[in-house]
Amino acid sequence: MKVDVNGSSMELKVGDITKQKTDAVVNAANGTLMGGGGVDGAIHKAAGKELLEACKWIRDHELNGEQLSTGQAVITEAFQLPASWVIHTVGPVWGGEEEKLKALLADCYRNSFKCAMEKGIKSISFPSISTGVYRFPIDLAAQVALTTIMEFLQRNDFGQVVMTLFSDKDYEVYATALQRLLDNE
Ligand code: ADP
Repeated sequence: MKVDVNGSSMELKVGDITKQKTDAVVNAANGTLMGGGGVDGAIHKAAGKELLEACKWIRDHELNGEQLSTGQAVITEAFQLPASWVIHTVGPVWGGEEEKLKALLADCYRNSFKCAMEKGIKSISFPSISTGVYRFPIDLAAQVALTTIMEFLQRNDFGQVVMTLFSDKDYEVYATALQRLLDNE
């Protein structure tokens, strides 16, 4: 499913984010930036150990040794991946005040775009941030993700956005949410 938004495109597809050839891929990282399971583990494995070195450099030089906060994003090269850049963002762990969690998830998408714009990136692939180990309900996450992406594309001249869903089931949830958004416009 692909829609045009103000001259940019937003596409939903089923796929493995480590195989995407967009300029950037987004990693659903954790605050340590030291890798983990799920999409984070897959990206680090496919990119090679230089990615971990680059993340360590960011921790030491840009974050003063601190963790990356939830909702924030940083960018590194992509090393062995087909993409050129990896944008690492930390999604919220489900649990607590819903409005606050939705705002933090929206921040992930917005701050990833901010990193992308700073590098002149024109195409980006996102995974479904927070809906794995972090347990964010996927129908709610889809609504937040797609609304935030559409708002960004309406306000900025960007290029291509791909939501890379890891299963047919996840794809269906995002496709339903997108259809609902389009019907309400
Ligand atoms: P989080 O900790 O933010 O919840 P996870 O990696 O656990 O992150 O899960 C986020 C989403 O990424 C889940 O829907 C999961 O199925 C999906 N995922 C896992 N591996 C990949 C991959 N290689 N490409 C795209 N999506 C993936």
